[in-house]
Amino acid sequence: MRIRKGRSPVRRQGAIRWRGATLWLTAAVCVLAASVLAGYAAALAVHTMSRDDAAALAVPLPDALPAQAAAESVPAAPDGDAAFEYLPVIRRGSAEKKQIAVTVDDCFQVDNLRTIIDTAEACGGRLTLFPIGQNLEKPGMAKLLRHGVFDLGFEVENHTWSHQRIFRLPEAQMAEEIWRQGQAVNRALGVSYEQHFFRLMGGDGECDQRTHNYLGQLGFRGIAAWSLSGSDADMAMIQRALKPGAVYLFHTTDADTEKLKAFLPYAVAQGYELVTLNELTGCAPNAVGAYAEQDMPAPRAYRCDLRDRRLGDYAWCVVGMQDALRRLGCLKLDGPSTGYYGRQTRDAIAAFQRISGLPETGVADAETQRRLLANCRTAAE
Ligand SMILES: [Zn+2]
Repeated sequence: MRIRKGRSPVRRQGAIRWRGATLWLTAAVCVLAASVLAGYAAALAVHTMSRDDAAALAVPLPDALPAQAAAESVPAAPDGDAAFEYLPVIRRGSAEKKQIAVTVDDCFQVDNLRTIIDTAEACGGRLTLFPIGQNLEKPGMAKLLRHGVFDLGFEVENHTWSHQRIFRLPEAQMAEEIWRQGQAVNRALGVSYEQHFFRLMGGDGECDQRTHNYLGQLGFRGIAAWSLSGSDADMAMIQRALKPGAVYLFHTTDADTEKLKAFLPYAVAQGYELVTLNELTGCAPNAVGAYAEQDMPAPRAYRCDLRDRRLGDYAWCVVGMQDALRRLGCLKLDGPSTGYYGRQTRDAIAAFQRISGLPETGVADAETQRRLLANCRTAAE
């Protein structure tokens, strides 16, 4: 737990009282706003995110109800596409063998990536690369990737086109961030390359239903997290974390390149095999076919599962809840809704629960979400 320095108990108590007063004030504003909203009922339009208007959206519309808010009115696709399972979030692989997967993200520095690839090759190891799509257009990158994939058995997976937190983007942009990176990998490799793993920018949004829905639709096998970020660790920590099934995250910075030059030979000397994520998780290698430009498939419809949302979550449905809370006057944010379920959102949910006669937990459970979003629907109908 982090405690701010220099805060006396008296000031903390004052802060608690002040927060209590703020909450009551917020609740009062909510009640007032809810009654005012009823007057605007006819003026509000429900936004059920169809494929067409998703494509037309360029920026989040603060005055429109986002897809999640209208989830109940999004019908299940006739072919049953709405039912899907969340993909696994992979932090480590099987501990049965002395194998680890070293993954390298972003790939801004081509020269360093070359050094890292050479180091792995000298160790007889394989890497899993998660380049940002834009970086694939850098001179020398395509050649490096072809060498890695076709000569050394490396894997190239997806880390978005432009390093975006996709859980908060409008649907069409979310889809494009994933799709466009895959197309860039195809172009670089000169083949149609079936990717299996997606890494979230900053690791945020693991529980985002919309992301899982689209990745599942495209045939991805999982979201790739990690057991240790080597970028945030020193050599001693990196060595201590060496265990069967470990998934390491590195980048192509100068510091990480130096760490990898030391760590890869070290791991091999300890009897570890450096394998790809496919190998570590028992997946078949990424299938390769003849190169062909492909059109981006529109995300299939899905029904919001209303799973509990709580402090620390990042998800598109949180954007929907924040928009609804802001419309009710329960939440004030600068700029567009963030999709981050932080303390402000938790307090706003608690305030909404209080005026709605729900248990005041600050956790957006299914009933809270239903009431919050129904409130908006009712206002619109
Ligand atoms: Zn990254």
